[in-house]
Amino acid sequence: MSFQQLNLHPSLMRAVASCGYEKPTEIQLKAIPPAIEGKDLVASAQTGTGKTAAFVLPVLQLLNASPRQRGPQDRRPRVLVLTPTRELAAQIGETVVALGRHLSFRSTVVFGGVGYEPQNQAFRRGLDILVATPGRLLDHAGQRNVDLGGIEILVLDEADRMLDMGFIHDIKRIIQLLPAKRQNLLFSATFPHEIRELADRMMNAPVSIEAARRTMDAESVSQTVHPVDRERKRDLLAHLIKQGDWKQVLVFTRTKHGANKLSEQLDRGGITAAAIHGNKSQTARTRALADFKQGRVRVLVATDIAARGIDIESLPHVVNFELPHVAEDYVHRIGRTGRAGLSGQAVSLVSGEEQELMTGIQRLLKRSIPVVEVDGFKPTAGPSLALPREFFSRNSRGRSGSGDASRSNRYDAKRGFAGGSRRSEGGSNSRWGKSKPRTSVVTGYE
Ligand code: AMP
Repeated sequence: MSFQQLNLHPSLMRAVASCGYEKPTEIQLKAIPPAIEGKDLVASAQTGTGKTAAFVLPVLQLLNASPRQRGPQDRRPRVLVLTPTRELAAQIGETVVALGRHLSFRSTVVFGGVGYEPQNQAFRRGLDILVATPGRLLDHAGQRNVDLGGIEILVLDEADRMLDMGFIHDIKRIIQLLPAKRQNLLFSATFPHEIRELADRMMNAPVSIEAARRTMDAESVSQTVHPVDRERKRDLLAHLIKQGDWKQVLVFTRTKHGANKLSEQLDRGGITAAAIHGNKSQTARTRALADFKQGRVRVLVATDIAARGIDIESLPHVVNFELPHVAEDYVHRIGRTGRAGLSGQAVSLVSGEEQELMTGIQRLLKRSIPVVEVDGFKPTAGPSLALPREFFSRNSRGRSGSGDASRSNRYDAKRGFAGGSRRSEGGSNSRWGKSKPRTSVVTGYE
């Protein structure tokens, strides 16, 4: 399938070509036609699938096809895109500009942490497309800086993430400020109960589409677990970076403090590093990201929320310095690497305390991740594998180095892994073996 078949306006086709997009991604193929027909859409897609263009293109096409109902003197925004973070908002704004470059629509991006006045000026000048984070937009709406009564299309981007970040009430309040008659496009990687409920309430006979979950784990990303004592993680990280001569590494920590500390320690040890997290000013974040993209710093240490939506093409290495508490975040994290068919490497430094988190992640992925001990960094306590040995051996026939070592390890919601690890069923006193079978099922991908 080519972009030709999507019947996009010639100006959009030119912009698509200058962005270097040769053919539509799966989500674009599925989302663009019904969206252009004016239908409501519930789309299951993750970052990295091309979902931004999947809503920006139809939005531009629709705006172009219909003039303002109240005439050109009406300067209220016609399209509202809500997204969880500043970085995502900025990137959507850039996509709108890039794809709309041959059309004459005005767009603006509004998020917290920066002054109100430039945003107010943009509202006063008038605009067509407003990209915003919910909190700041609600502030503006409360101060009557912007009138949302002219919104024709609402896009909720990364709805599940907005829920995680506590924006659900803000979103509901914003929706009440919009005209009831409008088109709704909702994008989410997962569909927890609250998001389904929101979709049910606000959508009008939506078309439901799903882009295959990016199979980065099996295809383009090689994943490895290095078991290591917690206090030796930093040394192991430095060792891996130096030994592998890694030039561009995104490292995830769980806390802002941890991100700062690690970046300072790496820097002191001769590995250039910067931290990016919510306590940093927008300017500091932008600078850190630019330094990283341009190779001036080798390591970017980030928390999940700050890293969310950072668009860096073909990032070669992602390191989980600490595992995320929420298994889905692991998928988001490693989604930063191996994009666009390029190979990537995702490495997790896992200490004994994180065993259960690792089990949860493997349940979510429905596969095991090969464990590789690094000489000189073997954990001092507990058995040498981060996971019950049976986990790998039942179905893998010893191929523990390969990406698909245990693809046949199917997860059954009732019974757990088909491999049936005795240790996980019976329990173990070893801190490496305390994996409890969990029955949580991931929605959205099934
Ligand atoms: P997103 O999922 O929106 O974050 O997009 C991920 C990356 O894919 C961005 O860098 C886009 O510029 C890029 N992209 C979007 N659509 C296409 C396409 N059709 N062909 C190639 N790259 C694309």
